[in-house]
Amino acid sequence: MNTKTILSITALAAMLPLSSSAVDIPQNFSEGAKAKLAGSIELAPSEHQLNIVYFYGCDFQPARDHERRLSELFTYVQQFYGQAMQRYGFGARSFGLPILPNGNVDIITIKGKLPHKDYPYNGGHGKVQAELAEYFAAHPEKHRSGHTFILMPTWLDDKFSDENPGGVPYYGVGKTAFAMDYGDFDLQYLGDDTPKGRLLTKYLGGLAHELGHALNLPHNNGTPDQNKAMGTPLMNAGNYTFGMKPTYLTKASCKILDTSETFAPKGCKTVFYTSQQDVKVTDQELTLENGDTLVFKFHTNAKFKCVNAYIQDAPFAVNEDYEKVVFDKVERDAADPTLYTVRMPLKDIASLKGVQQRAGVGGIDLVFVEEEGSRHSYRVQFDWSAITPQGTPLRDIIHFKGC
Ligand code: ZN
Repeated sequence: MNTKTILSITALAAMLPLSSSAVDIPQNFSEGAKAKLAGSIELAPSEHQLNIVYFYGCDFQPARDHERRLSELFTYVQQFYGQAMQRYGFGARSFGLPILPNGNVDIITIKGKLPHKDYPYNGGHGKVQAELAEYFAAHPEKHRSGHTFILMPTWLDDKFSDENPGGVPYYGVGKTAFAMDYGDFDLQYLGDDTPKGRLLTKYLGGLAHELGHALNLPHNNGTPDQNKAMGTPLMNAGNYTFGMKPTYLTKASCKILDTSETFAPKGCKTVFYTSQQDVKVTDQELTLENGDTLVFKFHTNAKFKCVNAYIQDAPFAVNEDYEKVVFDKVERDAADPTLYTVRMPLKDIASLKGVQQRAGVGGIDLVFVEEEGSRHSYRVQFDWSAITPQGTPLRDIIHFKGC
């Protein structure tokens, strides 16, 4: 653990001169995009940038005007993340983007070795990633961070078109995310209650959500009060509301992004994701306090930049965890620095079936984030019916890297 590293990141973010690139909207952006970006804030320059890749088959071509459209869309999503970080006090920081002199994003464009349909939704990602690895081996200067976003143009056939795009990979794989491009994927339609506008919300919301995963974020939901005030969390179902209805990043998400590689401000010397720390959690205790608040206490052997707690109903499978409610206040005891406590009022988790029925299996995920961005997850499961003021038997305790 190196406390100086944390301090230096925060201090650098505050001290560095701000880039004007995010507010000087490039001239070649469309008038519609300029209008959508009018509220842009100045973002601190970044030490590492997201790799943006455009990949298509040898018998195919990019969707029309893809460089301008995607530059506008990524600039918009960069602002969304940056404004959330600023709102929670992390500074005007977002994921870094490689920018060309004309203001466009520097997109790595790769024409694949195989026909476009040989990279399908089911299983196509591995072939794309293998060819991309070859590209990065030949062009190491283009590998700007460990985070990569890959866009592929929609298939064009009897089933798929610009009006009904599909066919290509569209999901996250670790720190790499895939999303789809199509001819009308254009920021100028954002918020329009038209077929093009609704399609844009679906696919830009999807892009912003998948990007969250690639930048280290798990799914999460807010509390009813937070959702009433701010809308739908992006890492809940915000991919369906983005641009159309209020959509937000939770503070818990921003706490994780604070130590995500592409959010590091220029000059940051942290080497990311190399920790070999062995995390242990012991002496767990789950109680019901005053009949209205779940209290979870535990000891751990290590120190972290942040800890979040997520609570949900079973099952715990991939993509069955959108509803898990997150608590970003997991507090370290002042007298005993190995002891942590998180309090979860039942009114804040009333959306969970376990709370409504006091039956079934529940789970609490603790996500520990180190100063260099490594994440460790630790899950305890319990029976909702067995929770008492004195304590609760815990079962199936598991620990895994990531979250
Ligand atoms: Zn997701």
